[in-house]
Amino acid sequence: MNLFEEQHIAIYNSITGKKEHFIPINEGHIGLYVCGPTVYSNVHLGNIRTFMSFDMIFRYFKHLGYKVRYVRNITDAGHLENDADQGEDRIAKKARLEQIEPMEVVQMYTVDFHNTLNTFNFLPPSIEPTATGHIVEQIEIIKEILDNGFAYEANGSIYFDVLKYNETNDYGILSGRKIEDLMHNSRALDGQSDKKNPQDFALWKKAEPQHIMRWPSPWSVGFPGWHLECTAMSTKYLGEQFDIHGGGMDLKFPHHECEIAQAKAWHNHNPVNFWMHANMLTLNGQKMAKSTGNNILPAEILSGDTDKLSKGFSPSVVRFFMMQAHYRSILDFSNDALLASEKGFQKLMEAISVIPSLSTTKASMDFDVQEWKQSCYDAMNDDFNAPILIAELFSAVKYINQIKDGANTIDAINFELLKNTLHAFVFDVLGLLETSHEASDDKLEDTIQLLITLRNEARAQKNFALSDQIRNQLTEIGIQLKDGKDGTTFSIE
Ligand code: AMP
Ligand code: ZN
Repeated sequence: MNLFEEQHIAIYNSITGKKEHFIPINEGHIGLYVCGPTVYSNVHLGNIRTFMSFDMIFRYFKHLGYKVRYVRNITDAGHLENDADQGEDRIAKKARLEQIEPMEVVQMYTVDFHNTLNTFNFLPPSIEPTATGHIVEQIEIIKEILDNGFAYEANGSIYFDVLKYNETNDYGILSGRKIEDLMHNSRALDGQSDKKNPQDFALWKKAEPQHIMRWPSPWSVGFPGWHLECTAMSTKYLGEQFDIHGGGMDLKFPHHECEIAQAKAWHNHNPVNFWMHANMLTLNGQKMAKSTGNNILPAEILSGDTDKLSKGFSPSVVRFFMMQAHYRSILDFSNDALLASEKGFQKLMEAISVIPSLSTTKASMDFDVQEWKQSCYDAMNDDFNAPILIAELFSAVKYINQIKDGANTIDAINFELLKNTLHAFVFDVLGLLETSHEASDDKLEDTIQLLITLRNEARAQKNFALSDQIRNQLTEIGIQLKDGKDGTTFSIE
């Protein structure tokens, strides 16, 4: 029997605003689509948070025994600077500024994305399609939407006719926006635009002479609109109607709203049963974003080489920090919060490392392992509540420490159950990594601190030859000391 037959999940569905009992379209199988990154710069920690939320969800489904087809795309064309069809293509702009090919930009940042996800112990998706690899499919969809009367051609570009669509459908069904408000709030067309109405969006854009990313189509040499790629790729690999579509909260409108409209205008089905939106990682109370510079990069958090942090943190500590917040809650990034997560994570790992040395007894015990195990599942079944799961894991930590101290007992059967359940949730579901290296990281850190203290003593005694020697030799092996007003910190290359 598969675990999914006994564990029933409720998922908060953004389109109904309610938690709903999740039943996949095909028993035992799940189709999951998550919007991937636009690969024009390094991913920041905010992006990582959204992808990590879905990695945890993917992991839990797999743990329950579902066969999951997880599709996460790479946006390598069509995403303009402004989400309302304006500005330059983000990748083309970067290519122009760096004087390189757009596909060099794509390659560089796709590699960075993959390396980063590996560092944070992500499972790879089942399929990772690219927008540029699906131009043909996108053109075919446009033809059909045109045939169905929900789009129009203007000067070589094709636009989706939102007002026409809204006559028979509800544009705004996901985001809760009303078409009247959208019309009222959108800026009047400036005479430059080919759109009939400002809220219409591009399915195909004719390329200006300077636009370097361009493909032939029946209407013009141009490029597809951003929203269309996800409709093309999700349908191709998951079908006209699939189980779950996810992404960050900021993609609800216009991106996902437009995906629904495109799909309905094309094949008249609601494309998705469950819409899931992950909440934002903030820094100083503001959304982390590439465009504003209010962000922190994965490399910075690992090395600690930023004025926002007192030290570097391991990938598992970062993961633990993110898992301590529910995926639908805002999470604010701070040095103090990470220090607290590090302590919690170490406590959890210490308890896990103690398990093999515990001895079992025949005596009964003061902890119901079976009930505890179900509480762990209950937490995850309730819309993937990882913070509650972590609280449950800490009840087990307390129990393990009591057994270690002789204040409690466990029999052999429950011992196996406790160990296996803990391992499954900590490593398989939360994706944390075992930390023998964490311990050696700690030792390295203590050793460097010792050298910093010795260097300070040398300086105090005016023995600058020795203090410089310590600093220079550390630099030679890739450890940089930084003197600041609050003392000396270090970073490791
Ligand atoms: P992009 O590459 O800009 O298309 O973003 C990739 C993913 O990261 C999308 O799902 C966004 O919603 C998500 N994202 C962007 N900024 C943040 C943030 N500050 N916190 C969480 N997720 C974010
Ligand atoms: Zn998308």
